[in-house]
Amino acid sequence: MRSVIFLAPPLSGKGTFSDYLVENYGYKQISTGDILRKRMASDEKLASIMASGALVDDETIMDIVSDELKKISNEPFILDGIPRTLNQAEKLDEMLNKLNIKDILPIYIDVTKDNLIKRVTGRRVCPKCGKSYNIYSESFKPQEDSICDNCKVELTTRKDDNLESFLNRYEVFNSSTLKAIEYYKEKESLLVLDNNNEDQTEAIKVLEGAIHEH
Ligand code: ADP
Repeated sequence: MRSVIFLAPPLSGKGTFSDYLVENYGYKQISTGDILRKRMASDEKLASIMASGALVDDETIMDIVSDELKKISNEPFILDGIPRTLNQAEKLDEMLNKLNIKDILPIYIDVTKDNLIKRVTGRRVCPKCGKSYNIYSESFKPQEDSICDNCKVELTTRKDDNLESFLNRYEVFNSSTLKAIEYYKEKESLLVLDNNNEDQTEAIKVLEGAIHEH
């Protein structure tokens, strides 16, 4: 199975695809967003950066990635939310080369801005297991209002899931992350996954085909 890099605008569903790969294929997920959210409670500066939708500095991010990659043994992994800048993409390449890790599949998750905006205020997250829901979506809402299907605890809303922060994150995506996407497009084949539909059957089929290649 090929390891993957998800490059995607906010709210595009990279967490949902990651969960699918973890549950069905035993991938190890490396999510900088999740790791940073855990650090937020004891770091006010970090909390305010993240609430605004701005990027955390590259050095902090690459330290996290380096630590997490060291924990990988032979299992395929998912880089969820890294790289977000061209500098991170280049540093990541150096890191992977040193570790002799090759053949990683970069995936761009394509969702229109209008569709992303519709998802912003509906996202709810389980504080215990991290599973994401969307209360406006038939496919992604919890079975019971505001309660996690697995843990049965009350769902929470992320601090950065408001329109203002989303628009900042979307702007950051356009100004920084698109450059990282261009980098992969030029270097190797980039898989484009259309995730505009609520029904993800087709997108999952494409994803599964791609991770089995080689
Ligand atoms: P989303 O995909 O909804 O934007 P994430 O959980 O991936 O959410 O990221 C949340 C926030 O964490 C980002 O807005 C940013 O502040 C910080 N962050 C996560 N990954 C990175 C990264 N690679 N570089 C810089 N900041 C990051």
